[in-house]
Amino acid sequence: HMTGELKQLATTDRLTQTFNRVKFEEVIQIEMERAKRYRRSLSLAIFDVDYFKKINDTYGHSVGDFILKGIADVIKKNIRSTTYLFRWGGEEFVILIPEVDLEGAKIHAERLRKVLEDHSFGEAGTITASFGVSQFEAGDSADAFLKKSDAALYLAKLNGRNRVEVSS
Ligand code: GH3
Ligand code: MG
Ligand code: MG
Repeated sequence: HMTGELKQLATTDRLTQTFNRVKFEEVIQIEMERAKRYRRSLSLAIFDVDYFKKINDTYGHSVGDFILKGIADVIKKNIRSTTYLFRWGGEEFVILIPEVDLEGAKIHAERLRKVLEDHSFGEAGTITASFGVSQFEAGDSADAFLKKSDAALYLAKLNGRNRVEVSS
């Protein structure tokens, strides 16, 4: 049985101080169950920084790290306390949004996309990110739910980046 502090370490990404995949596995099951049982909306956005390799190549890995931390901070400031932010890996993040349907999540993602685009990260200037959004449907597994958003993200990259696409 883990103490609060140990549990926090085990569920937090060190660099960005966002939740990690361990926490995601826990939260997604609880939120999917809640959405099913009470017929509530649940949406998931996944975003990936555009051309991040270029940032590292141009400014160095530590500036890249600084930007990742900054991105997480900017997003945290612009989501509700009931919305979860996870570092999914590398320069990819997942946002789980309870009580919000696809249309609402799309609007929310669009706002976050704009906030990121407008933010200055010092010497490295600005970055953009591409977003994929989907809504949970009864019968979706966690994996299927995530894959819907991931497919939308793929489309966002394909359609030119710095944009939001939703799963149809
Ligand atoms: P795209 O627009 O297609 O997403 O292009 P991209 O360059 O962002 O995509 P790619 O997957 O080729 O590159 C992701 C880069 O992110 C590669 C890797 O070096 C960098 N990266 C992953 N994790 C970290 C990290 O923790 N710190 C830093 N500085 N860079 C990271
Ligand atoms: Mg990536
Ligand atoms: Mg990328």
